Amino acid sequence: MLYAILTICLAADSRSCGTVTPVGHAFATQADCKAAAPRIARDWLGDQSPWTLDGLACSTLDDLLILPVQSVADGVHVHIGQIAQFEDSPDGWIANLGFVVGQDSIAVIDAGASRRQGEALFAAIRRVSDKPISHLIVTHMHPDHAFGAEVFREAGATIVGHEGLADALQARGPAYLENLTQLYGAAAMAGTRIVLPDVAVADSLDIDLGGRILTLKAVATAHSDNDLTVLDQATGTFFAGDLVFRGLTPIVDGSLPGWLDWMAVPQAGGPVVPGHGPVAASWSEAVAAQRDFLTTLAEETRKAIRDGLPMSQAVPAIVEALQPFAGNWASFPDSAARNATAAFKELEWE
Ligand SMILES: [Zn+2]
Repeated sequence: MLYAILTICLAADSRSCGTVTPVGHAFATQADCKAAAPRIARDWLGDQSPWTLDGLACSTLDDLLILPVQSVADGVHVHIGQIAQFEDSPDGWIANLGFVVGQDSIAVIDAGASRRQGEALFAAIRRVSDKPISHLIVTHMHPDHAFGAEVFREAGATIVGHEGLADALQARGPAYLENLTQLYGAAAMAGTRIVLPDVAVADSLDIDLGGRILTLKAVATAHSDNDLTVLDQATGTFFAGDLVFRGLTPIVDGSLPGWLDWMAVPQAGGPVVPGHGPVAASWSEAVAAQRDFLTTLAEETRKAIRDGLPMSQAVPAIVEALQPFAGNWASFPDSAARNATAAFKELEWE
C-alpha cells in the first residue's frame, strides 16, 4: 500500500523540517495516492497549524523507519526502548511499546515519544498483521509513552486511558512537548500533537480483540496519578507501564507509598512487560530490584525527616544513602536527586 508523505517545516527553516505520514489513508496505486495527497495534506495541517507544507510524495511503509519489535508470547509483540532517561537519549525513544493481535483486531499499548516514533511503530505492526488497529491504550501521561498517539487515532483506533489521563495531558502536555523539542530539535518532533483519550477508565475495562480479552485496570496514584495496566488473558502477559522499571532508575511522579502498596500485591502470573527495561518472566523477577530501591528511598527519606533536616540537606543525604544502588540503574544521579526531592515533599506531611 502507498501512503502520502508530507514534508513540513516550521517557518521555512530547513533545520525544522520533518516528514509526516497520515496513516489513515492508504492507496493501491501511485496515481490514486498522488491525486489524493494534496487534500490529505490540507486536512492534516488544518487551519491553525504552525507547520507549512514543503513537499508531497507517495511511498510504501518500507521507506519509513520501522521500529524493531520482538514476540514475547503468542500474538504479543514488544519494542524495548533505550535504557536511558530523556537527557541521555538521542531521540527520546526510551519507553517500551507493544501490541497484541486478536482474531479481529489489534490493540497497541503506548505510542512512543513523537509522531515519528508512532509511525515507526505503525510500520512495525503492519509487518506483522493487516488487521484493523481497534485500540490504543496509553498507560500514563508521560511523553515517551503518549506522544505518538495521533498516528493511531488516524489509523482508526479508539484511545483508552486512566480517567485522570486527559487532565494530566492537558496540564503537562504542552510543557513536555516544548522540552522534547528543545532536547531533540523540531525535525525529530515534527507533526507531534497531543491527543486526548476517547475512553476514560475509572476502575477496570475489558477490551475484546476477537477471541482475546485484554483487562485494563486503573491504578491508584503510584508512579503517576494516571497509571493504567493491561493484562492479556490469553497468555497472562502483563503490561505494567511505568509501574515497573528494570535497568532504568524508577521515577516517582505520583506517590511513593502508593507505589509500594501497589507492588505489595502480585498483579501478574505470566511475563511482565515493564515500562522500561527487559521483559521479566515473573512478577517477582519484575519487581524485586525496584522494590528494594523504592523501599530504601522511603526509609532514608523518613530518617532524614525524623532527623529534622531541611530539604536542602535532606536531598543530598538521601542521594548519598542510595549510592549502593547506583551501579544497577541507568541515568542514576539526576533521577536519584529528583526522587529524593519528590519523596521528601510527600513524606514530610505524614
Ligand atoms: Zn512514566
